[in-house]
Amino acid sequence: MRLTDNEIEAIAQKIVAKTPSSGRRPIVVGNWKMHKTPSEGEALVRELAALVETADCEIGVAPAYPCLGQVGRALGGSKISLCAQNAYWEKAGAFTGEVAIGMLTELGVSQVIIGHSERRQFFGETDETVNLRAKAVLEAGLVPILCVGESLQERDSGLTHAVVDRQVRGGLADLSGSQVAGMVLAYEPVWAIGTGKVATVEEAQEVHSVIRQLLAELHDAPTAGAVRIQYGGSVKPDNAAQLLAQPDIDGALVGGAALKATDFAAICMAAKAE
Ligand code: PEP
Repeated sequence: MRLTDNEIEAIAQKIVAKTPSSGRRPIVVGNWKMHKTPSEGEALVRELAALVETADCEIGVAPAYPCLGQVGRALGGSKISLCAQNAYWEKAGAFTGEVAIGMLTELGVSQVIIGHSERRQFFGETDETVNLRAKAVLEAGLVPILCVGESLQERDSGLTHAVVDRQVRGGLADLSGSQVAGMVLAYEPVWAIGTGKVATVEEAQEVHSVIRQLLAELHDAPTAGAVRIQYGGSVKPDNAAQLLAQPDIDGALVGGAALKATDFAAICMAAKAE
């Protein structure tokens, strides 16, 4: 069922924006991609932990699989949580090269990035497989961070909303409102990832608001008001505060700037719970 513009507007007005009572604690996650060896990762989080002690937000780092054990141990006692960059939906079996969620929980992982554009672009990830991963991550009691976002070509063709709509519907298919409410979504325009091009705060806020309206349509206003939606795409210390101040931007998914402790810490310090 598709809603009319008036119905969507009515829902939007009921949605809780990021007000002092929204309860949406900002979440900043560093996606290290295929960077940092285990010992380099350990050094990075040791430096980071000291820098973000007073940060007023939730913070996570997502190292590559082989680094999770060593980085996780180094994080012990800090406020930084351990995230994985992906996970497979089967519990065990003949799936060479894949990693089961049970293996991640044993290492202390609490969040899992799913549907990152690089997985979609280079590894054949589809909305269906992203949905299977989301279900499995939730079933294991972990938090999925579901990434969505349009390519440059799609943006130039005016398809941003349609692409994000399809990816959110597909990724969240068959999930209940309470499951969705506990998830994190990340809007990452593909053209802004690793390019130094960042969406304007107005562009980013608009898409975040469209995503929240869609969540209200798929579930209800309280669910939409509970979901944290991160922005990702060339977030740096000098643009983070403005982006994070937008009413529907509840944190950041950070790539390049997460590889330097001082830069990532500066982004974390820019995110403030209201
Ligand atoms: C990302 O990979 O999710 C990302 C946002 O990268 P960057 O910050 O480097 O654009």
